[in-house]
Amino acid sequence: MKKKKILIVNCYIDEFRIPVQRKTKFPQSMTSAFLAGIFSPDRCDIRLYDEVFSGPLEDEQLLSFPDMLVLTGLNSAFDRMLHITAYARTKNKDVIVVAGGPIIRVLHHYSTHFFDYCCTGDIEQMAEVIEDAFDNTYVSENFLEKGWTIPRYDLAYWMTTVGYVESSRNCCYSCDFCSLTGEKTKYEEYPIEYLKEQFIALGKRKKDIIFLDNNFGGTNRQFLLDRFELLGELKERGYLKRWCAITTNDFFLEDENLELARQSGCANLFSGVESFDKTALINFKKYHNVRIPQVEVIQKCLDAGISFYYGLIFDASTRPIAEFKEELDFIVNNPEIPLPCFLTLAIPLLGTPSFYQCLNENRFLPHIKLRDLDGTTLALKPLDPMNETIRFIKEIQNLSGYRRKIFHHSLKFFNRYKNRLSWYPMAVAMLNAPLICAPKLTTARSEFVRYFQKGYKKHTRSFVGSTEPLDAVYSPAFRVDSRYEHYFNPTMLTDAHGNLSEKLYMDLYQN
Ligand code: SF4
Repeated sequence: MKKKKILIVNCYIDEFRIPVQRKTKFPQSMTSAFLAGIFSPDRCDIRLYDEVFSGPLEDEQLLSFPDMLVLTGLNSAFDRMLHITAYARTKNKDVIVVAGGPIIRVLHHYSTHFFDYCCTGDIEQMAEVIEDAFDNTYVSENFLEKGWTIPRYDLAYWMTTVGYVESSRNCCYSCDFCSLTGEKTKYEEYPIEYLKEQFIALGKRKKDIIFLDNNFGGTNRQFLLDRFELLGELKERGYLKRWCAITTNDFFLEDENLELARQSGCANLFSGVESFDKTALINFKKYHNVRIPQVEVIQKCLDAGISFYYGLIFDASTRPIAEFKEELDFIVNNPEIPLPCFLTLAIPLLGTPSFYQCLNENRFLPHIKLRDLDGTTLALKPLDPMNETIRFIKEIQNLSGYRRKIFHHSLKFFNRYKNRLSWYPMAVAMLNAPLICAPKLTTARSEFVRYFQKGYKKHTRSFVGSTEPLDAVYSPAFRVDSRYEHYFNPTMLTDAHGNLSEKLYMDLYQN
């Protein structure tokens, strides 16, 4: 029998606003590989495409391939979902288009104008879609039997250096800016057997493992201990050498956790510090980060031989630049803590409490596109004058004014922790300097090569959503059917007055 042809795309629109392949941007998304595991491998011919790793999907042959196109991606990637739908429908008018992910959940009504299936549930909903569009013989037998999906690691071509597994989903906290809070999700633990099966499917090829959990520490101590035990056992059997996970501050309250984590192979932990300013944390409703001083947490982790990653958020609409500069000075002058691995502008993600607060307080700038919610583009009215804010946003893209201090910080940090951290966690910690000083060159090899080639042109930006020109991907790469030309118009979030765009009223209007 003829197999159904399935194309699953992780859609992405780059914050650098150029078509670029981010081959060394971590962690990578594995949603498409998890989704692929729900399709029957015997009855479906499945292909995956990751726009982060491979750049914008414009391959006409691949776009002509699917009977079913499955799209996933972050909030800012919604317009890419539309572009790819237009391409695929131009090539095959009968293609079934399925879209899912946080942005489809929050813009469900609006999405139904464009896609055949708009999934509001978790990835397991894919099985219902397959059954409805084809029949349940196209669903993987393993999924039907156990109710969980084993990712198709064999198709995840972007997974070149590290492997990925997941042991839980969602989080037990409710930070104001987090999409999980907006979606009112509940923290869920997976059966330990499921985690084990993921490792077995991954095989012994990948020695460095990244957990995709939103909060690895979770709330159930026994579940945490069970996972440490399993990881220790898998390490002995050669399924992993090192692992890394995202966890919340409360993980560090129990001294034993760090020791057990290290023994089972933990090399790096990421925790959402967001800010060293207590008031900023309280404004984010990130109360768990103020229970113990963050610097203490970081030192504890590093002294236990585990590298500590974190990012910083700057909300230009509630905090003055001077305050954020003080915070940066505090970090670069303190070798007890590592440098952050990213700095981002606050993103008022659709449907979150912070999104509604910005809307109610009329803090959005006019003519903001959904695409502008990428962390490098100003979408909110700043407290400081606009020209100063733009200058500062430009500066934090590569910390041009801090480079000397960053260099000295790295040397001092190395000396402080050289006897505590082994080479791998130390190397990971030292990578933060190039990551924040030259993010484009560190995460996109092609840009690195281009940089040293003659004719490399700097891409100029305004950094303000209202005035940023559209990315090249908004011009169709080939002729699309006139019925889908409007799919290339940007989805507007705000109107000329900074109010919610009328098209999104049904999904986002709140009294
Ligand atoms: S702790 Fe992290 S994952 Fe949990 S709600 Fe806050 S931001 Fe989201």
